[in-house]
Amino acid sequence: MIQPRDDVALMEGYHSPQVDVAVRLNTNESPEAPPEGWSRDLAAAVASVDWHRYPDRAALALRSAIGELHGVGPEQIFVANGSNEVLQTVMLTYGGAGRTAAVWEPTYALHSHISRIAGTSVAEGERADDLSIDMDEVRRVIRGSRPAVSFLCSPNNPTGIVDDESIVRATLAEVEAVDGLLVVDEAYGQFAPWSAVGMIDADTPLVVTRTFSKTWSMAAARLGYLVGPAQIVSELEKVVLPYHLDALKQIAGCLALGHLEDMNARVDRLVAERDRMGAALAELPVQIWPSGANFILFRPLGMDGASVWKGLVERSVLVRNFSSMPRLGGCLRVTVGTPAEDDAFLTALKEVLA
Ligand SMILES: *Cc1c(COP(=O)(O)O)cnc(C)c1O
Repeated sequence: MIQPRDDVALMEGYHSPQVDVAVRLNTNESPEAPPEGWSRDLAAAVASVDWHRYPDRAALALRSAIGELHGVGPEQIFVANGSNEVLQTVMLTYGGAGRTAAVWEPTYALHSHISRIAGTSVAEGERADDLSIDMDEVRRVIRGSRPAVSFLCSPNNPTGIVDDESIVRATLAEVEAVDGLLVVDEAYGQFAPWSAVGMIDADTPLVVTRTFSKTWSMAAARLGYLVGPAQIVSELEKVVLPYHLDALKQIAGCLALGHLEDMNARVDRLVAERDRMGAALAELPVQIWPSGANFILFRPLGMDGASVWKGLVERSVLVRNFSSMPRLGGCLRVTVGTPAEDDAFLTALKEVLA
């Protein structure tokens, strides 16, 4: 049988088990369904789609609406099927054979995975012991490997740590010095106190990615985007498949932007709930990291992470198991859910740790 490319044969796929449990707090989805008005409007819109025609290839209405949200024009917005497809398009455009991407671990696994799939070498730097970005290490990796693309993730998945503006600025200066591109993945940007979107400028090699999967309660829709210089957006448009964004998804995104207040209220509820959960975890024998996202990373003390994960599953609570990952030994990550889901998690965790 034909074998895949040598490098693909050696790769592991992306694993995030979908287990059937009552309380699913493992993939950082929104615990709330989208606003009812959105679902109603979308159902009505299905009837108006010209299904025998290709969708608007430029997705202009959607890009204009997203641009308005960020105070930029549609020429600065690139949209795709989830921000993972945005990242893939960035790597197909700016990565590839003979080029390098830089990441600082532990971070979102797809940054290095997508880079490798696009044929890009990956330079892996380390974060500091407290899992924050270490600028000496950023300088060492960028000056040593001269990456075409460097990734920051703020708030970082799976740690929840927000990079200060000074970190993003200092990294950008290093990236500019090697003629590279800085990608700041802000999948959880709305939960954080600041955003790098304000730093975007026509002459600055910086793009920021966002998604509708988390804040916008639309993980099933698969919609994500990038804000960046118009010149970069037009290069990405050359690479992505024509008509990649179907007509209904374009409408779904536009309609969602009409419910901004509702979405912001969800963010406020989740942030309050995250802080309540953080305070409750602080009372238990676990180590926790400060989170600017809709999840919390924690490490049970005196008990191994895999057993705690299993004990939670037995109580019908699913969290993400990072316990065997390098640098995250024993760690688990819990998504902030509804107050009832979070109480179920906290009760189960107390039982398991007792
Ligand atoms: C969830 C996530 C994404 C991807 O989400 P999509 O559903 O593909 O938009 C991207 N980056 C990070 C850090 C994430 O956690």
